[in-house]
Amino acid sequence: MTTKATNIHPVFDRILGRDEKQKFLNQSSRVIWMTGLSGSGKTTIAIGVEKELQKRGILTQILDGDNIRTGINKNLGFSEEDRSENIRRIAEVSKLFLNCGIVTINCFVSPTINIRKIAKEIIGEDDFLEIYVNASFKVCEERDVKGLYKKARNGEIKNFTGLDAPFEAPENPFLEIKTSDMTAEESVEKVVNAILPQLTRE
Ligand code: ADP
Repeated sequence: MTTKATNIHPVFDRILGRDEKQKFLNQSSRVIWMTGLSGSGKTTIAIGVEKELQKRGILTQILDGDNIRTGINKNLGFSEEDRSENIRRIAEVSKLFLNCGIVTINCFVSPTINIRKIAKEIIGEDDFLEIYVNASFKVCEERDVKGLYKKARNGEIKNFTGLDAPFEAPENPFLEIKTSDMTAEESVEKVVNAILPQLTRE
């Protein structure tokens, strides 16, 4: 997307930078990007991971549908264009946190390779840790945590990911968690062990 505003005078070279903020917090910031079907376990894992990181003195911010789609993105729907704009704004918000030294844990279905590519390009490849929270459509439908699968089957929700809209699995994620083969606690532990070395400073 092109910038519409003119007469913008960036102050980035005068404000405290990411490195100062990371030193202040004694941590390294990253964006933990969890992708997977609705009900695959993104939110459950994020909540558990946040608690574990807090115990280790690491400051985090969970970004999910609840705080994004009811706030900054409340004017967006689920058309192709709106889904891309939703992700673009989420990525820009994540980048602000990243530059503030804070770890964001993002829980978004983010169903296509292209949509996640948009996010990765905005955030930067090295700071974008993609986690594929993998559970089959069947398992997610059996869980039906929010009753969305039932509504989608009844035709009350259109373009539902996995049913009448595609989900494209990541080709080369930082980590894959198969949530139907383990407990939520095990999933959390696996994620924490994988990301912790990236978040701590010597
Ligand atoms: P999402 O955020 O991806 O839509 P939720 O976290 O809201 O998914 O729901 C996942 C459901 O699956 C929860 O009820 C959770 O208790 C259950 N679950 C079972 N096993 C796991 C696991 N290994 N990891 C995460 N969640 C799990």
